[in-house]
Amino acid sequence: MNIILLGPPGSGKGTQARMLAKSRGLVQLSTGDMLRAARDAGAEIGRLAAPIMKAGGLVPDDIVIGAVAERIAKPDVARGFILDGFPRTLPQAAALDRLLASTGKTLDHVVELKVDDAALTDRIVGRRTCGGCGAMYHVTAKPPKAEGICDVCGGALTRREDDTPETVEKRLWEYYKSTAPLIGYYYAQGKLVSLDGMASPEEVARQLGGVVERVAA
Ligand code: AMP
Repeated sequence: MNIILLGPPGSGKGTQARMLAKSRGLVQLSTGDMLRAARDAGAEIGRLAAPIMKAGGLVPDDIVIGAVAERIAKPDVARGFILDGFPRTLPQAAALDRLLASTGKTLDHVVELKVDDAALTDRIVGRRTCGGCGAMYHVTAKPPKAEGICDVCGGALTRREDDTPETVEKRLWEYYKSTAPLIGYYYAQGKLVSLDGMASPEEVARQLGGVVERVAA
């Protein structure tokens, strides 16, 4: 089963992808995570991407397409993937279609998470991530038991350097300019399902589970 999660930054793609990957044995493919790992490892693509990510821009298509093509070819992806943060532009979506066709894979659904703009900035600016296990928190909506410490593994919580109010504005602008056209692209392919991303993470997960059940059936 192969799924894309589509939605603006802060819509809950990462949280939902993590939960769904765990419950269904699928692989979460987050291009943001891949680029951050490449940056932290000092890899060439990471060095190119770092200043763009910091400023809230989009990394050039050829870089992210190359990273996804390499990752999708790995054997652990055979059971299925959840793409989170890719594609983000029409050329990326077209490249993904070609990539899937050439590897005999199909896309089952593209799930759009719809969230009011006003909620996005608060969600992003308040979010914290565990450097150890990747668990996600929010300073007011989902605080850890001890400030700055992960409940799950005791790791230190950090704020992404692009989760600032100034950068969020740029990232939202990029979303509406370059990524939102994908909603029409996948609607035309009959693959789009839209969910209310304003609901609680548990409720969104329940609805997403329903979509996945339909795919499995
Ligand atoms: P994310 O973790 O998905 O919010 O991505 C963080 C940042 O990584 C984005 O703001 C972009 O700078 C970059 N990025 C991630 N995925 C892509 C993509 N598919 N295309 C271009 N840039 C991306």
